[in-house]
Amino acid sequence: MRIMLLGAPGSGKGTQAALLKEKYGIAHISTGDILRSEVARCTELGRKAESFMNSGTLVPDDVILGMIESRLVEPDAERGWLLDGFPRTLVQAHGLIALTERIGQKVDAGVLLNIAPEIVVRRLSGRRVCGQCRGVTNVSEATPEGTCPNCGGPLALRSDDEPAVVRHRIQVFEEQTQPVFELFRGQYDVIDIDAAQGQEQVAEAIRKALSKYA
Ligand code: AMP
Repeated sequence: MRIMLLGAPGSGKGTQAALLKEKYGIAHISTGDILRSEVARCTELGRKAESFMNSGTLVPDDVILGMIESRLVEPDAERGWLLDGFPRTLVQAHGLIALTERIGQKVDAGVLLNIAPEIVVRRLSGRRVCGQCRGVTNVSEATPEGTCPNCGGPLALRSDDEPAVVRHRIQVFEEQTQPVFELFRGQYDVIDIDAAQGQEQVAEAIRKALSKYA
């Protein structure tokens, strides 16, 4: 199964991707996660990407397309993959169409998590990442001491989840990423999901819609 998980920042792509990865045993390819790992390891790519990421701006298309090109042919992607946070621009979308044709891999569907911008701002300003287990949680689920509910580690706000940066990320999404969905509607099976529902209901709606590809 080869799926693109599409949607605004904060629409729940990461959460749903983890569930889908477990259910179908396919590779979860998150460009945001790959970039954060490059930044943490201070690689050349990480140093190039860091300032774009901190300001909520997109990393240049050629950098992202190069990353995806090498990732899709790794052994764990042979059984299928789930793209999370990619493509985010029309250049990336056309790049993916050309790349999948070249390497003989067919995209089955796009799952589009639809959500209103005001819910995104609320969700992201409450999102915290644990510095110890790297788990993502909401500030309302922290322990009374304000630490991670899973491992007790320190919780932090991602620098790009600061409210001003979130607003900029939404603007970038509306200007650069939304046109991708319109392109894909004429090209692939794009499945619309109401992402304002609870995580379980969203997961169930996705499972139902994808059952024909399993
Ligand atoms: P995410 O975790 O997917 O929200 O990504 C965090 C940040 O990484 C984004 O705000 C961008 O700066 C960068 N990024 C992730 N994926 C892409 C992409 N496909 N194209 C350009 N920049 C990206």
